[in-house]
Amino acid sequence: MHIGNLRTALYCYLYARRHKGIFILRIEDTDQERFVPGATEIIYQTLQECGMTHEEGPDTGGKYGPYVQSQRKDIYLRYAKRLVQLGGAYYCFCSKERLETLAEEQSGANGEKTYKKYDKHCLHLPKEEIKRRLAAGEPYVIRQNIPLSGTSSYTDLVFGEISVDFSDIEDNILIKSDGLPTYNFANVVDDHLMKISHVFRGSEYLSSTPKYNLIYDTFKWERPQYIHLPLIMRDAQHKLSKRHGDANFDDFIKKGYLPEAIVNYIALLGWSPGDNREKLSFAELIAAFDIAGISKSGSIFDEPKLRWLNAQYLKELSPEEFNRRAIPFYEQSKVKNKYDYAKLSALLQSRAEILSDIPDAVDFLEEFGDFDNALYLNQKQKVDAAVAKAALTALIPAVEAISDWSLTTIHDSVSAFAETSGFKKGQLLWSARIAVTGRASTPGGAFEMFDLLGKPETLRRLKYSLERL
Ligand code: ZN
Repeated sequence: MHIGNLRTALYCYLYARRHKGIFILRIEDTDQERFVPGATEIIYQTLQECGMTHEEGPDTGGKYGPYVQSQRKDIYLRYAKRLVQLGGAYYCFCSKERLETLAEEQSGANGEKTYKKYDKHCLHLPKEEIKRRLAAGEPYVIRQNIPLSGTSSYTDLVFGEISVDFSDIEDNILIKSDGLPTYNFANVVDDHLMKISHVFRGSEYLSSTPKYNLIYDTFKWERPQYIHLPLIMRDAQHKLSKRHGDANFDDFIKKGYLPEAIVNYIALLGWSPGDNREKLSFAELIAAFDIAGISKSGSIFDEPKLRWLNAQYLKELSPEEFNRRAIPFYEQSKVKNKYDYAKLSALLQSRAEILSDIPDAVDFLEEFGDFDNALYLNQKQKVDAAVAKAALTALIPAVEAISDWSLTTIHDSVSAFAETSGFKKGQLLWSARIAVTGRASTPGGAFEMFDLLGKPETLRRLKYSLERL
C-alpha cells in the first residue's frame, strides 16, 4: 500500500474514531485492467498491522454490503439507467473509430494532442433509435451529461471554496461497455447507499468533485463533506511515487521500521496537532485529530525524521518484544544461529534506529580481519597506535588470567588490572574494543564485546590486532 493511500485511510480512521463514527472498508475493483492479484490481501494486512480496524467491510459484513464493487454491478446499472431518465446521463453507441477520429479532429494544427472532449453526439439520438439499438444488443456506454456552460462550486473542508467551469469537464463514461462502472460513478452511488458522510481523498480529485456533485444533485441526494489531502512529496519538486520503490508501507517494514512509528509519522505528513508534539500514540492521535489541522501545501517525506521517531518507539518496547521483532534481522545477518539474540538485543535496543541496522551492527562478530590502525586514534583518551600497542601488550596476560568468563568477572578483573597497569582505564578499554572489533562504533563497550566473543576469540583477536600494530 502506497504511503499516500495509507495516510488517507488513517485520516478517515482517526476522524471516524474521534467522532464515534464508523470506518468502512470498500474494495473498488471495477477497473479490471488495473487489477493486481493479491492487492486486496495487502490492504487487509496493512490495515491490520497498523491497528486500523473497520466496522464494516467485505470480511466483517455490515448493513450496506456487498462491500466489493465488482459484486455490485447490477446496482450501478440500475442507478445509471435512472440517471438517464433524469437527464443526467445518456447512452453512447460511438465506435472506437469514431472516437479516435474525434480526437484527431481536435488535435492541434501541428498534430499535438489537445484536450479530448466528447462531442455529445449521442445525446441527441432520437429516443426510438436508442430503444432499437439497445434491443438489438448493440454495445454501448453510459456517459454523464455535463452542462455546456455554467459553474459548479462546493466547499472543501481543507481547500475552501472550489469552483470549476462545466466547460472544462468532459462527458465522462459512467458505465463501460463491459457493464462495469467507472470510479466516477461507483464512488458516488456507493457513498450515497453506504451513507458516507465524509470523503477523504487526494487533492488530485479536487477538480473532478463538481462532476460527482452533479450526480448527487440530479438524484437529489445529499452531498457528503469533502476533505482533500495535500500531496506527499519526495522533495520540493517530486511526488513520492511508486517508481522509486520506497513509497510503500511494505518497503518501510522491510527496512525495519515499526508500524506504530510509520502510523505516527504519516499522521504528521500534512496534519499537525497544533502544538509541538511529534510523538503521538494512536490514542493521542485520535484525541487530537482535527480537520482544521490539515495543511493545504504538500509535505515532504523526511526519512531521517521517521528514523528518529522509530528509534523512540524501539526504546519503548519491552526487551522481549524488541528481541522478538529483531529476530528476522539477526536471521539475515552473519550471526544467524551463532549468538544469543536476547543478549545482542539487550545491547542494541538503546542504539538501533531501525531494525535493519542490526546486521551491520553485529556482523563484526563473525567477520573480523584487516582494519585501519588509524581507528585507534582518540584525542580525548590520548590514544594512538603506539599507545594502543603498549596497552594491548600489557592487557593480554591479564585477560588470559581471567578464569571464569562472565561480564562481571571481565569487568572486575580488567578494572583491577587497570589500577596498577600504568595506563588509564579509558586507554585500555578503548584500545581493546578497537582491537577485538576493528570498528569505530559497536553495540557496547570492551567488556560487552569480550563477553559476546568469548575468551578464546577475544584473545585471538587481541593478539592478531597487536601483531598488526
Ligand atoms: Zn456516442
